[in-house]
Amino acid sequence: MEDCLFCRIVRGDIPSQKVYEDDDVLAFRDIHPKAPVHFLIIPKKHITSLAEAEPEDAPLLGKMLSLTRTLALQEGCRNGFRVIINTGRDGGQEVGHLHIHVLGGPQPWK
Ligand code: 5GP
Repeated sequence: MEDCLFCRIVRGDIPSQKVYEDDDVLAFRDIHPKAPVHFLIIPKKHITSLAEAEPEDAPLLGKMLSLTRTLALQEGCRNGFRVIINTGRDGGQEVGHLHIHVLGGPQPWK
């Protein structure tokens, strides 16, 4: 997707603070963090939202979900973390490329 903000981050056209990267997935810090730890996990392939994910995307979605724990621990979230997937307009999604928010760090921040 030429104009998609997160596709541009995947391509490196827009800089990001990377937390993790492999062939399928990129994780980077949210530009407006809502918690001491706040990063996004996205598929490199353009999927508009969770509502547009296809059954064949299930392994990719599972990998992303599994990475929440791994990366949250890597980022120092020893006592838990929050996972959010805003989906579609009524779900409060602002960027039209599937992303998992991972938030954590010592309370209070919620
Ligand atoms: P949504 O509301 O779509 O679930 O969340 C989109 C998130 O992307 C927001 O938390 C917002 O701060 C973050 N974001 C928007 N533009 C950029 C950007 O250019 N770089 C980074 N790192 N995060 C962004």
